[in-house]
Amino acid sequence: MSTNRSTALSLFLSRPKATKERENRKISSYYAENVFNDSKLRSYLSNDAYKAYSMTISGGSKISRELADQIAAAIKAWAIEKGTTHYTHWFQPLTGTTAEKHDSFFTLSGSGAAMEKFDGDALVQQEPDASSFPSGGLRATFEARGYTAWDPMSPAFIMDIAGSKTLCIPTVFISYTGEALDHKAPLLRSIETLDKAATGVARYFDRFVNKVTPTLGWEQEYFVIDKAMYYARPDLMASGRTVFGRGPAKGQQLEDHYFGAIPERVYSFMVDLEMECHKLGIPVRTRHNEVAPSQFECAPMFEEANIAVDHNQLLMDLMDRVARRHHLIVLLHEKPFAGINGSGKHNNWSMGTDTGTNLLAPGKTPRNNLQFLTFFINTIKAVHDHSDLLRAAIAAESNDYRLGANEAPPAIISVFIGDYLTKVLDAIEQRVDNDLKEEEENELKLDIHKMIPDVMMDNTDRNRTSPFAFTGNKFEFRAVGSSANCADPMMVLNMIVGNQLNEFKEKVDKHIAEGEKKDSAILKELRACIKSARNILFEGDNYSDAWANEAAKRGLPNIKTTPLALDAYTTPKAHKLFKETNILNDKEQEARHEIHLEKYIKKVEIEASLIEELSLNQILPACIRYQTELLNNIKSGSDAGLTQASFKTQHKIVESISKHIEAVYSGVENMIDAREKAEHQKTTREKAIYFCDKVKPLFIEIRSHVDDLELLVEDKYWPLPKYREILFNR
Ligand code: ADP
Ligand code: MG
Repeated sequence: MSTNRSTALSLFLSRPKATKERENRKISSYYAENVFNDSKLRSYLSNDAYKAYSMTISGGSKISRELADQIAAAIKAWAIEKGTTHYTHWFQPLTGTTAEKHDSFFTLSGSGAAMEKFDGDALVQQEPDASSFPSGGLRATFEARGYTAWDPMSPAFIMDIAGSKTLCIPTVFISYTGEALDHKAPLLRSIETLDKAATGVARYFDRFVNKVTPTLGWEQEYFVIDKAMYYARPDLMASGRTVFGRGPAKGQQLEDHYFGAIPERVYSFMVDLEMECHKLGIPVRTRHNEVAPSQFECAPMFEEANIAVDHNQLLMDLMDRVARRHHLIVLLHEKPFAGINGSGKHNNWSMGTDTGTNLLAPGKTPRNNLQFLTFFINTIKAVHDHSDLLRAAIAAESNDYRLGANEAPPAIISVFIGDYLTKVLDAIEQRVDNDLKEEEENELKLDIHKMIPDVMMDNTDRNRTSPFAFTGNKFEFRAVGSSANCADPMMVLNMIVGNQLNEFKEKVDKHIAEGEKKDSAILKELRACIKSARNILFEGDNYSDAWANEAAKRGLPNIKTTPLALDAYTTPKAHKLFKETNILNDKEQEARHEIHLEKYIKKVEIEASLIEELSLNQILPACIRYQTELLNNIKSGSDAGLTQASFKTQHKIVESISKHIEAVYSGVENMIDAREKAEHQKTTREKAIYFCDKVKPLFIEIRSHVDDLELLVEDKYWPLPKYREILFNR
């Protein structure tokens, strides 16, 4: 009998060996060749126009229409030279993917002559048909219109898909009345907030600082599986994860995959992917296997947060396309396989000045170290005060499967800083007091300096279980989901640190105005921050139950599910913060909350339908067929005059199967019931909570019976590719 599974297996076995070799060109010879970066802008613009552009950008003011026309002409000239025929505004709506709507450069002039046209208007603003993107009711109340507006800080690029080239212009997506409808608009606002606040504080130490930019270096984990297996698993296709599947005999227990040799087919995919990335100016550098079988990671050099976010979105898109060329599929779901490690996306974050200083890197002098400690401690304080918002920023239906599953950081946000810095914070807390004498202060600064090793990075003990760890010259936010857009967690981080730095500066300035010396005022405020933020610091094993208990004692929230985690966005405190930092107004805030909840509900609904469909028309029929075979066997035995006792085992198996069949069927019925009830909940929030608490637990129950059936039913009848077939695809 042939099943989708057996077809998939034979397709997989007949795959040709990987042949593609890396082109023997130096990466530097094609790096960013498809990006209209600053050097290209310089060569395609007149000197005057380029000067005007640079001044506008560094001054943070708006680009005039005249200049936009000149830039559009420059981009068009470059793009057409490269064989590009279409252009699109590229944006990041709240659906989670990127969106584009292609227009041709081609047009007809008044006299009917064919020509290529692209002017400032087309560059600066477009009106895509946006009615199908989520707006949380924002557009419904005004007009069903949304605009994409050019982000001049992120360079245009050419996407080359099967030889057809499209110019992509990174944009923000906003409503007719200016409300943010995407991930990028609030991110850009948060970058501005952080810049202003951090520049103010950085000037305590270096008066030449004019700009501070948050930096982001992401590390992307993912699974790669054979395309045929993917298409034989409707659950992977529709929800990104397997809703059924028994763990393989050989899973990751042997831990032989991590840093092992990369399988050949995957290797050739990676080489191909890296080349595409490099052409698009995405500076990917590292690749290796991850802990789970068929799991991998790639990471670039860090960049300005805005660009890094765009690049990560672009990478996820490229991964999908390039993998398909190799008959592979990339899975970005946070937990595609139960019982096997899930995937995350570590967000390494820091702040850099326009004078070239990393504000989270320990310095070479006591004074530099005071600067480092100022930014370091203020970040900890910000995380302490707003850990609920960071938790909300990583909340997603798919990430719920991963957080706290003893392989990923828990849903409790804490900060790891390592031994050296713990001692430094202790010293500040103990030795700074209200009448700190000048000699004491100098001595303390020297002592601190001695306590911080020169190269922190090699000295920080790495605590892999911490959701928010200091790793030498940056913080690493590890609880971000692999499929997430980095913009949300980065936006929240920029916002809370920006806000904290503003509050800090206000207090320090007040001390200074009252006649206190600057350094001593700074030290005193740092001590206050340490005192009040101390209970967010945790150095131990975040995966342990002991920590969950300890965190509860400390009063740290441990919110395991998305619908409740999202509540953090709706508190008066959050509304005030988003408003004061100019990142989201009340209306935008509420709309976003609604959109996140709706997305959650949709995801659970999809999984429920999948479970119903797979159970009823794939799993149960296969089980019944095998059951019939057993019954026929028993019957023919008794027809031949054998006693029932000779068929004890067959009876047992038939009974077991019957029991599980019954349980799956009634589980599905209960689930349909619960789903029905969920639909009748009053608010979106109540509905999401109902889905979470009443519908989802039934998934686990149904699954446990299906997974038992997978063991009981003869292999050839089983319709879905098994874990061992999907995961060990060398
Ligand atoms: P890990 O041990 O966590 O795998 P890696 O060295 O592989 O560490 O990754 C470090 C990541 O941190 C890289 O993506 C890198 O770009 C990023 N990173 C390094 N410095 C900074 C910085 N100043 N700001 C933001 N990210 C940074
Ligand atoms: Mg890491």
